[in-house]
Amino acid sequence: MTHYDYIFAGGGCSAYSLVYYLTQSSLNSKSILIIDPQGSSFPSKTWCYWSESPLPIHPPTPLVYWDQLILRKGEEKSVIQLKDLKYYHIQANHFFENLQVQFEKYPNIHFSEESVESCNPIGDQFEISTCKGEKYTCDYLFDSRIEESQWSGKEILKQQFMGWKIITDTPSFDPKSVTWMDFIPSESNQFSFGYILPYDTKSALVEFTCYSAEDISYDWLESRLKEYLANHLKGISYTKFFEEKGKIPMSTRSPKESSHPRWINLGTRAGWSRPSTGFTFQFIQEYCQELVRELEFSGITSPKKLPQRHYFYDNILLNIVIKWPGYLQKVFTNLFTSNSPDSILRFLQAKTGFLEEISILSKVRFYPFLKSLWHYEKH
Ligand SMILES: Cc1cc2nc3c(=O)[nH]c(=O)nc-3n(C[C@H](O)[C@H](O)[C@H](O)COP(=O)(O)OP(=O)(O)OC[C@H]3O[C@@H](n4cnc5c(N)ncnc54)[C@H](O)[C@@H]3O)c2cc1C
Repeated sequence: MTHYDYIFAGGGCSAYSLVYYLTQSSLNSKSILIIDPQGSSFPSKTWCYWSESPLPIHPPTPLVYWDQLILRKGEEKSVIQLKDLKYYHIQANHFFENLQVQFEKYPNIHFSEESVESCNPIGDQFEISTCKGEKYTCDYLFDSRIEESQWSGKEILKQQFMGWKIITDTPSFDPKSVTWMDFIPSESNQFSFGYILPYDTKSALVEFTCYSAEDISYDWLESRLKEYLANHLKGISYTKFFEEKGKIPMSTRSPKESSHPRWINLGTRAGWSRPSTGFTFQFIQEYCQELVRELEFSGITSPKKLPQRHYFYDNILLNIVIKWPGYLQKVFTNLFTSNSPDSILRFLQAKTGFLEEISILSKVRFYPFLKSLWHYEKH
């Protein structure tokens, strides 16, 4: 049975990110095994994040970014001009391929293309069994396995979406601006919006997103996406060349804590998605760097969480999502237009101080927030 210092159960975004920060640290000679059934067939999904400059982990492919976001409802449109921040785009397969080339320089980093079946603490170590009947042991186990069954069927609000990359016959997109939220009126008590990342005038990633605690089938999301495309493109024909879809939990409730201090959950499994937005990528980067610092310093890690007051803010917003989704267009538009957009994005990234948050909240229209506070609940 081979022994490793660190085993990664799951080799997705958070695992590769943590291994990258380990290679940049004094721990770069630790023996590492990454176990994931996907092997090198990396997903080509799309991740976006905002920052003043690209993060060091950003792959060196031609940079794609925007500095204008649009919030829209029908003909009503708010153009949000970012000042110092940019909205960066990463294609996941470029991210993985770039890191894999970097990891090849480290003979102590190993990969195994299989699924983890069980992980058990035995004495001072963990024993990992895989679907191929292999067994490994390790001192630290980093677990980022996610299965939608962890939250599907449960009363947890989820961001559920389907997106297509398409090419149109005639120019149909404004490549300068991302349509962040194109609010779609709904008769049911669901909040849905379109999201458009334009690559040029004729190609874009177009997504249909719905916030709902109920499980929504991908067939239904596909039919709504087609409807959204038909309305948006007004009869212009298009060819789809890529599809992505997902369900991201939007909950301020702590995920199941791991039962052992050296069994460390990462990424979505660890609850690192911002509950009110589903954005996760940048929290993964920040928290993985903190984990490496703790491992270097004492070997003892602490759970990574947003400052507590941000869960309170998120509950206020999630309460509105669940109980009065009709207010959301005004709430989001008001947040961005009554404050500097950069400060709202920094707020969503939990990078604001308390006084700045008071200043932001003092400028928004109070009614939906007060109503939500009055009916406060944890979600
Ligand atoms: C389509 C999509 C788009 C997204 N876009 C954004 C975005 O624009 N911005 C943003 O901030 N966030 C975004 N997110 C959320 C989040 O950033 C990503 O989901 C990110 O990949 C989460 O990283 P992770 O490591 O937690 O999970 P993943 O990257 O999904 O990695 C989990 C890994 O575990 C593996 N695994 C599962 N079961 C087993 C098992 N039994 N044994 C071994 N391995 C196993 C899987 O194969 C997978 O590789 C998006 C999510 C999705 C699904």
